[in-house]
Amino acid sequence: MSHYSPDTLEPADTWRKQAACLDADTRLFHPRGYDGRYMPIVSAAQAICDRCPVAAQCLDFALRSEGKAHGALRHGIYGDTTPNDRLQISRGTGSRKRAKCGTRSGYKAHHRLGTPVCGDCRKANSAYVAARIHDIDKTRGAAAA
Ligand code: SF4
Ligand SMILES: [Zn+2]
Repeated sequence: MSHYSPDTLEPADTWRKQAACLDADTRLFHPRGYDGRYMPIVSAAQAICDRCPVAAQCLDFALRSEGKAHGALRHGIYGDTTPNDRLQISRGTGSRKRAKCGTRSGYKAHHRLGTPVCGDCRKANSAYVAARIHDIDKTRGAAAA
């Protein structure tokens, strides 16, 4: 079984059997922290969640188990989310779908969630800003002509 704690296990014939993390190293899903130092671990876990067919059920399970718990009582990566992601979801201020790294949405999500901006997101944001500046220059050029 994957990283689910024994006292929260549901019957064996549930969605868990299809979990993409069944044979994964459980330590990936329970890093000691979620700040920049632990991002490679968090990202490795989320890469497994990315291809998991039962990510929605897994996230439901975590949200149900954690209820209204505040941040410090939430642990682990479930359904492609960090504890902070789930806190936001439970408060109605977050999305169930993690913005993908390497996109402008991913860049904004780093800021919203207080996680360090990764290289791919930084690049995506720079490309966005460069394109916006290009658009503004074009508009100015057309207005001046
Ligand atoms: S979504 Fe992630 S943590 Fe949940 S079962 Fe799938 S791989 Fe495991
Ligand atoms: Zn990123």
